[in-house]
Amino acid sequence: MPELDFCIDMGECPLSATPINHVFLTHAHGDHARCLMRHHSLRKMMGVERDSAYYVPESIYEGAKAWIKAEAMFEGVSEAKFRYPQIVPVSAHKRFFLEYRKDLALETFEVKHSVPTMGGTLYFYKRKLKDEFLGKTPAELIELRKQNVEITREVYEPLVSFTGDCLGESLLQNKEIFKSKVLITECTFLDDGEEQMAHQKGHTHIADIVHALNELDGEVECDKIILNHFSMKYAEKHIREKIAQVIPEKFSEKVVALL
Ligand SMILES: [Zn+2]
Ligand SMILES: [Zn+2]
Repeated sequence: MPELDFCIDMGECPLSATPINHVFLTHAHGDHARCLMRHHSLRKMMGVERDSAYYVPESIYEGAKAWIKAEAMFEGVSEAKFRYPQIVPVSAHKRFFLEYRKDLALETFEVKHSVPTMGGTLYFYKRKLKDEFLGKTPAELIELRKQNVEITREVYEPLVSFTGDCLGESLLQNKEIFKSKVLITECTFLDDGEEQMAHQKGHTHIADIVHALNELDGEVECDKIILNHFSMKYAEKHIREKIAQVIPEKFSEKVVALL
């Protein structure tokens, strides 16, 4: 998401991702993490001096450091020259501002997958005039400020939530994600009869998404719900048809596939 200077996972690293200053790894699986150091080295090659902030769940922080160092050693970097990139361990349910964007805050939560995994919500931060001062003139507001009256309040607006890889039940366990403008969630399996397999593999079946939407109904505030991470066995046409077929009509404008 270049406009938010934020990237969810780094399983691939297209050149277009290199300017992005914040990367969050949801978990350690290769399709989500393997190009993290490619991102780091492409930036160095292109002369970007600023280090990206690489956020990782605290449970994989030590493993990530060991992996990054081992990869550098494997490539022949000497011990003396080796330097870690900026890796930041993240714990669940603690909201913090992004390193280079003081208007954006991230809060993560744990989801169920076959390995430790975190989803997150990015919030747009701003200060708003408190309700009791609405309607005051600028002169009155200036006067109040002079008297050290706090006339504003903090507002955190949920912009984007993402789940990483997860079981479908993680959606309802973290239902505040449906208050974000955009929700990005995995939908690995689609076909009838694959529900059990999805569960065994720690992934979401589209029936889980339909279930969550029906359960929450009026509580769904998202403008868009973006489904991704479809199993490679499905053709694009099949994915689009299946979504059109099973997503309840009420939500059909909101739910889109990222292919
Ligand atoms: Zn995974
Ligand atoms: Zn995956």
